[in-house]
Amino acid sequence: MAHVYDMVIIGGGPGGYSAALYAARAGLDVVVLEQLSAGGQMALSHQIDNYPGFSEGIDGFTLGIQMQEGAERFGAKTEYAEVKSLDLLAEPKRVETSEGTFLGKTVVYAAGAGPRKLGLPEEETLAGQGLHYCAACDGMFYKGKTVVVIGGGNSAVADALLLSRLAEKVILVHRRDSLRADKVYHKALEEAENLEFRWNSVAVELLHRERLSGVRLKDVNSGRETDISCDGVFVSVGRTPNTGLLKGQIALDAGGYVSAGESCRTNIPGVFAVGDVRTKALRQIVTAAADGAVAVHYAEEYLAGLH
Ligand code: NAP
Repeated sequence: MAHVYDMVIIGGGPGGYSAALYAARAGLDVVVLEQLSAGGQMALSHQIDNYPGFSEGIDGFTLGIQMQEGAERFGAKTEYAEVKSLDLLAEPKRVETSEGTFLGKTVVYAAGAGPRKLGLPEEETLAGQGLHYCAACDGMFYKGKTVVVIGGGNSAVADALLLSRLAEKVILVHRRDSLRADKVYHKALEEAENLEFRWNSVAVELLHRERLSGVRLKDVNSGRETDISCDGVFVSVGRTPNTGLLKGQIALDAGGYVSAGESCRTNIPGVFAVGDVRTKALRQIVTAAADGAVAVHYAEEYLAGLH
């Protein structure tokens, strides 16, 4: 029979590698299944200032690698594999991947969340053709150009500021008349001279020839539509959880997040959800990392037959 791990962790972001660190230090035989590289969404942030312990901040890619190496120092393994399907009710639990089957007495699901889409026609076709979801990844293509950023949260504002250092002009489009983003960003926004705001506006159409050439906006109060010509649009309207593989097996909340409280226990014994993928009030690196530690605490109890 194939090797049975004490714990199979799906996702190598801060939640996954925190769980791996705590599990490995507790002497558990643990593997992390990661699709690309350590860090998850965090790896795309070029400056992280709100994870304690780094007085000058740190970039997300480096922090991800350090979390991975920290867990591997105690014996956690990493396998680069895409998870295709799961059988969480089986004993041991089965995880089918591009690199074969992994079996675990427990599973920690830490697959995070991906960018939310606008839901406009041709969004898929234009992705990468002027339409983007990650300014840190693709902003460099817009040096000296005009870009639109859609959203009003911390991510949209951080993206707009990053792009204002590269692009000639940045237009931040938000559906309300005030930002959701933290006050800490407001001064920098005021100081960015090439940044304009379009309040109370939503994108209703992506304008294009072969690639994106602009966006049609609708004023939510007056209903008036206007076209803006631009070279690129960056969508930053929040995230949706990566829980497609779990549907029908695990209880999800109305937003599609895994229903798991602060214990990170799901409705399936021995299966835990950590980080952005579970129902929670605050999705941050520090809360994802905390989840990893908590999940391992309850996983150890489960392995000891306590629940
Ligand atoms: P978010 O806080 O959920 O904000 C999403 C923004 O997009 C909101 O302004 C929302 O508008 C808008 N929006 C949502 N759906 C929309 C749609 N269909 N069309 C147009 N606009 C839409 O998401 P986020 O900015 O990605 O942040 C996610 C989490 O990461 C948050 O907890 C955030 O604090 C955290 N984060 C923190 C930092 C940091 O520096 N500390 C940086 C990045 C992210 P409304 O405001 O009207 O709802």
